[in-house]
Amino acid sequence: MKTLSHWIGGKPVEGTSGNFGPVYNPATGAQEKQVPFASVDEVDTAVATAKEAFRTWGTSSLAKRTAVLFKYRELVDAHREEIARLITAEHGKVHSDALGEVARGLEIVELACGISEKLKGELSTQVSTRVDVSSIRQSLGVVAGITPFNFPAMVPMWMFPIAIACGNTFVLKPSEKVPSAAFKLAELAAEAGLPDGVLNIVNGDKTAVDRILAHPDIAAVSFVGSTPIAKYIHATGTANGKRVQALGGAKNHMLVLPDADLELAADSAINAAYGSAGERCMAISVVVAVGDTADPLIEKIKERAAALTIGPGDDPASEMGPLITKVHRDKVASYVTGAAAQGATVAIDGTGFTVEGHEDGHWIGVSLLDNVTPEMDCYRDEIFGPVLSVVRVETYDEAIALMNNSPWGNGTAIFTRDGGAARRFQLEVEAGMVGVNVPIPVPVGYHSFGGWKDSLFGDHHIYGNDGVHFYTRGKVVTTRWPDPSDGGINLGFPSNS
Ligand code: NAD
Repeated sequence: MKTLSHWIGGKPVEGTSGNFGPVYNPATGAQEKQVPFASVDEVDTAVATAKEAFRTWGTSSLAKRTAVLFKYRELVDAHREEIARLITAEHGKVHSDALGEVARGLEIVELACGISEKLKGELSTQVSTRVDVSSIRQSLGVVAGITPFNFPAMVPMWMFPIAIACGNTFVLKPSEKVPSAAFKLAELAAEAGLPDGVLNIVNGDKTAVDRILAHPDIAAVSFVGSTPIAKYIHATGTANGKRVQALGGAKNHMLVLPDADLELAADSAINAAYGSAGERCMAISVVVAVGDTADPLIEKIKERAAALTIGPGDDPASEMGPLITKVHRDKVASYVTGAAAQGATVAIDGTGFTVEGHEDGHWIGVSLLDNVTPEMDCYRDEIFGPVLSVVRVETYDEAIALMNNSPWGNGTAIFTRDGGAARRFQLEVEAGMVGVNVPIPVPVGYHSFGGWKDSLFGDHHIYGNDGVHFYTRGKVVTTRWPDPSDGGINLGFPSNS
């Protein structure tokens, strides 16, 4: 069995705590690797290394930083296949899906290549006689990222490229379930010429996370993961004086109006509910079918679901892979059986599915639940598996009331041909990301990503302009180059003239 390492000071560092976590291949169920869990001392070493590196990286020129980032962009681009294979081996998602996440992560590296444009300050001349004012943004110091299992490469890339482009140094704590893709990204950064200690990785569990949250030399923490942990990270990090952005879980609704293109809506529901086996924070998990749309839409979804190929992520024929762990697989299955017991109609039951020759893999087929109501567990909880619920409502108003009653507000979508209804929806729905006939509206890298309500704790969305703001702080400089006529005693509050 392979033993993985931390990445500190530009090189692999063996774990010394004696604690390890298992890394499985979800398609076979076999534990193929173990990952070291960092102790408090090991986190402290990584932070001290990052702090030392900040002394030079924090004052390095924009030209130098962007030169590294441009080279990094080329290296990640050239290693897309290898990174995607690492993702599939530990997460289980199919290769094409893994390639998609690398591509979306690369968008943020590309944004970071243009950081000099984003860090251009503002200057106002002659705000008062012979007085100029400039606003600049400066890096924070050492910042940290804590990331979830479902996007082993993309979510770390939502964070560190912008953070380091802004002049910070970074300590990443990736998900202990999928550590290898992030490790590869750090190796490539070193190859691109990123100075040692600017990007560090500590693997680990709650011990490492809690040390990050308490460490006095960490200025800011970006977190992406489930809502209860996001809430905890935000409360603890801010109580310790840190800037925190903590993105949480979701329950994304797709509203289908009677005038929608039902073929497109059915395709979109399938792709967004079952892609990556539903293990996406932007997955559609509820279809809200208005009026008489439910019956024809369900028929179309059933036809498409029957044709899906589920299998190992490294088999090019597979469209959906296994779930991350056996425990998670059983939990997802329990929602399907529970929904039936609570009165939902199980239109498709995927719980008995397995793959011949891979019986120990974490398999589940796709499930479709009809006649779901808001009090059912399958509606209330984030299932994070390939389970799509259909809620039937009579009107748009009933639909929007249901959706806005959800504690989450990550992504949402409306399917309609009515521009007026779509416009109303954009303005009325309480969610951070809205799709109009687009089921997974993940913003491009130069916009920002983030939800509302229990899907995000903190004031900043992630990447885009919000990312640049999160990883920098403002400074305003007021300058006078004196003239002999200036000066004199005046105890009044400074006013401009
Ligand atoms: P998770 O919350 O279990 O873990 C996320 C990170 O927190 C991991 O690095 C993990 O080691 C750490 N962690 C776990 N328990 C902890 C604890 N008790 N104390 C301190 N740290 C802890 O999430 P996950 O299962 O890895 O990922 C899936 C979740 O992430 C889903 O809820 C999904 O919706 C959410 N997610 C959200 C977004 C978003 O952008 N809003 C994106 C991807 C995933």
